[in-house]
Formats: sequence, C-alpha cells, structure tokens
Amino acid sequence: MPKLTQLWHPGELTPPGCDTALSPSFAPLKRRQSRNPFLSPVQVRKRWQALDNAEAQALLLDPQTEAVMEGYAKNIENFIGTIKMPVGLAGPLRVNGTHAQDDYLVPLATTEAALVASYHRGACLISEAGGASAMLLSEAVQRTPGFCFDTLAEAGQFVAWVSTQYEVFKGVAQSTTRHGRLESVSVNLEANNVYLVFEYTTGDASGQNMVTIATNAVFHHILEHSPVTPRHAYIEANLSGDKKATAQALRGVRGKKVSAEVILPAELVRQRLHTTTESMVAYGRLSATGGILSGAIGVQGHYANGLAALYIACGQDAACVGESAVGITRLEARDDGGLYASVTLPNLMLGTVGGGTGLPTPNACLSLMGLAGPGKARALAEVTAALCLAGELSIIGALSAGHFSRAHHKLARGKSA
Ligand code: NAP
Repeated sequence: MPKLTQLWHPGELTPPGCDTALSPSFAPLKRRQSRNPFLSPVQVRKRWQALDNAEAQALLLDPQTEAVMEGYAKNIENFIGTIKMPVGLAGPLRVNGTHAQDDYLVPLATTEAALVASYHRGACLISEAGGASAMLLSEAVQRTPGFCFDTLAEAGQFVAWVSTQYEVFKGVAQSTTRHGRLESVSVNLEANNVYLVFEYTTGDASGQNMVTIATNAVFHHILEHSPVTPRHAYIEANLSGDKKATAQALRGVRGKKVSAEVILPAELVRQRLHTTTESMVAYGRLSATGGILSGAIGVQGHYANGLAALYIACGQDAACVGESAVGITRLEARDDGGLYASVTLPNLMLGTVGGGTGLPTPNACLSLMGLAGPGKARALAEVTAALCLAGELSIIGALSAGHFSRAHHKLARGKSA
C-alpha cells in the first residue's frame, strides 16, 4: 500500500497564496450555467453559448437530437444533448416463462468489450438446451416514511393509531394513481423512531415516482390527522432499499422477484463451454465461499454487467442496478452428468411504461424484443433473469475452462476486424 508521503508531497499541499490546497475557496466560480433547469431551445442555446465548445456541441447536440430534444423534457434537467453508446444483441435467448414466451434478441448498451460476446454465448447455449424456464415469483415497491417522537410512549401511541388507518391510507394512496396499488403497510419501531413500510404494486411501471407520489399523499394525511405530533417526519427514511444492496434484499422483494433455470446436457457443456459439469460445480462452490469471505449479499458472478447494459439500452433507471444486482446463482450436477443452473433475483426494478422507457432509442430497444408498453413488464423481468443466467453460465464456463483472460484480451486489445 502506498505511504501517505508518496501520495501527497508537502509542497503540493501548500501552493503559493493558499494556506493549503484543501482550504475552502470563495473566489468567483470559473464556470457558471443558467439557473433555469428546464428544457427549451432557448435554454439549450444559452448553455452551449456558455460552454463555447463547437466540437463538443456538434457531437452532443447533433441534428437528430436537436429535432426531438423536447421529448426529453420530463427526463432530465440542464439538458445539453445526448450521448451515443454502442448497442449489441445477445441471443436468440429462448425463454419459457410464465409471462415471457419467445426467442429474444436482447439489446445491450455497453462500452465494455467481451460483455455482449459473453451474454450472447450464454444465451445461445441456453437456447440450444431448450431455453430457460423463468417464473415471476412476487412484486412490490416500497416507500418508507420515518417519524421521530420524543418518547417511546409517543411512538407506541402513533403506531396504535396507524394500525387502525390502513384502509384510509389505501384510499388516499389510490387517489393519486390508476395503476399503483397500496398492498400493505407495516411498522418498524426503533425506540422513539417509527418507520412505516408502504408496499405497492405498480402495474407496468418500475414505480419509484408512482410510490413516492402516493406515499407523499398519505404522509401529509398522517401529519394532519395523527393524534401525536412527531418532532421530525420524512417521506423516506432509508428502509426501502432504494438503489442499494441491503441485508433484506434476499428474503424480500423489491420490484420483481424472478427465478430462472436451465439444464444443460454434459455434451453441451463440453462442446460449447469447453469444460465439464464437475469443474463448473466445483467453481460454483469455490466462488460461493469467496463471496461469503468477501461479505457479499447473495452469491452471483456478474449480474451487474448484463443488468447495467440492458437497463441503459431499455430506458430503465440504471442506478437501480444497485439493488437489482443481488441474488443467488446455483449449480448442481445431475446423475447423467448434466448441469442444472439457476438464478434468483429478488430486486429487479424495471418497467415497460414510464421513466425512460418512452424515449426514442430505449423504446426502440424494448420494441426489438416485443416488450414495449403496457402489459409487458412481467415478461421483461423474466427475460432479464434469463439473461443473467446466460451471463453466469458464460463467465463460470470461461473461468472453468481457463479462457477468462484470453477472451478479454482478444476482444478488448486485439485488432479490429
Ligand atoms: P413514471 O413515468 O413517473 O410513472 C408512470 C406513469 O405511467 C404514471 O403516470 C402512470 O399513471 C402511467 N401508466 C400508464 N399506463 C400504465 C401501466 N400499464 N402501468 C403503470 N403505469 C402506467 O414512472 P415510475 O415508474 O413511477 O418512476 C420511474 C422513474 O422514477 C425512473 O425514471 C426513476 O429514475 C425515477 N425515480 C424516482 C424516484 C423518486 O423518489 N421520485 C426515485 C428513484 C427513481 P398512473 O400513476 O395514473 O397509474
């Protein structure tokens, strides 16, 4: 580990005219932008005038972006343009699901070489084995307001009142949304703090805005009608698991919980992954123990790779990879030498309506899979789990066969075709 003196030289910490480089500076800011965050041609022009960089402007605000830019108004503030990322296809991935029943070509947006190749290899392997079975197991999205009282007695009084109000809360929440449904309210009391856990189903939307708006209405109803006044109250008290892997992630559900599985004949493992069932299962055991040693929540190889690429391509909130990339990958050897492989992802935060899903290129990516718009979110969740299964098989296969580094070297560093 480098020593502090190797990282910071005393002279660099005290540049001329400063007490230290780390002191606050109240000199006028060197760069500014308009205070108006909204998207209009005038505001965009002003931002580029201030940036004064024609080359960057030509790339970020290309004619096609400029022509449709007002369509981004509800998705971003301080807009200056769009970035372009490469999109590749993995598959066909055959999914035999309770909601997804098709052979899917899955669009993945990434700048990481070998990622699409790896998911593609796993997807084709799964299809050759007859497809992945996939089952949506449950769904719920949470908002968790918090209330601070003076004493435990006051907190108890509040909880006693809350427990008589569930039907009222449901009515208030329901008044804000057609597709969102408040399914349950539960209580978590910690001394004089009370956390309420509101759980919703959110139709085909991923639902973060929907549950925030609905919970906000109930929150204000509570503040108006509660027999005990909290000292402090907040609409979200960080118990929801929003955008982070938490200890409750594996037992509960956030978004959609899905299991997917496939059975690969021994011959297919040998032909396509150039390894054996025994070596794959042994790696599974080693990596599960490695995961425990590292303190990981769940046991899995690289869900985040496929999820981030799919979420970016399909207009999902990419930050939800934080909670979505939690789960369990499991491998078993069958008596005939075949390999059983499964994934279970309990926190797939995704939708086919709302958020970024209606924007031109994400919508085009969802359409490529026949999964754009209402009625498709559950199928998207099953395809996503099957995609993660494909990625797990491919990476475990590469590690078992000793090809992991070779593939990256060839695809990321080799000459272009
Ligand atoms: P949204 O676009 O805010 O809401 C979905 C909209 O679609 C609602 O107006 C809903 O109407 C409508 N809708 C039409 N048909 C529907 C159907 N079949 N199923 C569900 N809704 C349907 O999207 P969201 O999913 O609630 O929020 C996702 C966005 O929230 C993401 O972009 C994410 O980045 C962002 N986000 C917000 C927060 C937050 O706390 N506010 C936190 C993290 C992320 P009804 O409501 O009337 O049903």
